[in-house]
Amino acid sequence: MPEARLASQNEHKLAELRSALPDWDLQLLEAEEFPPEDGDTYYENARAKARFGREVGPAGAWALGEDSGIEVAGLDGAPGPKSARWAGGAHVQRVLKALEGMEGEGRSARYVCELVALSPDGEELRGTGVLEGRIAEEPRGSEGFGFDPVFIPDGEERTVAELGDAWKARSSHRARAARALAELRV
Ligand code: IMP
Repeated sequence: MPEARLASQNEHKLAELRSALPDWDLQLLEAEEFPPEDGDTYYENARAKARFGREVGPAGAWALGEDSGIEVAGLDGAPGPKSARWAGGAHVQRVLKALEGMEGEGRSARYVCELVALSPDGEELRGTGVLEGRIAEEPRGSEGFGFDPVFIPDGEERTVAELGDAWKARSSHRARAARALAELRV
């Protein structure tokens, strides 16, 4: 079972990735500070976090970097990799306000997750996952985090926060990225 450290402080992400990577022994990286997310792409940010993990984490463990965000059609694909800063800690209110009065196609959205894993000898694996959906008119549900109370995946009527953590562990953008990455490891 490969040992790995996720360069993140987000326990939700850890739980989702653990479920999606049952063959990995995955822990959060212990660090005082993490690198800033100032790249233009999810991949750059995920790779910077993985490289940081490679530098400060245990030499025998894989270093895993993750970056994710939401892209909203009615906002021309924003906020994307800048989602955390854009939301400013008030994800639901921020996106509902930005889409006030907007109906139909403008509320289409997707979650994107990019994962980068660096092996103990520096080999890089990359996995991308996308979850298509739309932004609800009002928040519902209590599980998950961030935009989950207002994100309704395609083919569902409930928000991700209502669908819950078990659903996310199977079907989120993060779970999809993790499976794509795990398939590359032979
Ligand atoms: P970061 O990858 O930690 O920078 O997250 C980017 C932003 O997207 C943060 O504001 C997160 O809350 C949000 N985000 C990323 N993944 C999810 C998710 O699975 N559900 C809800 N919000 C998410």
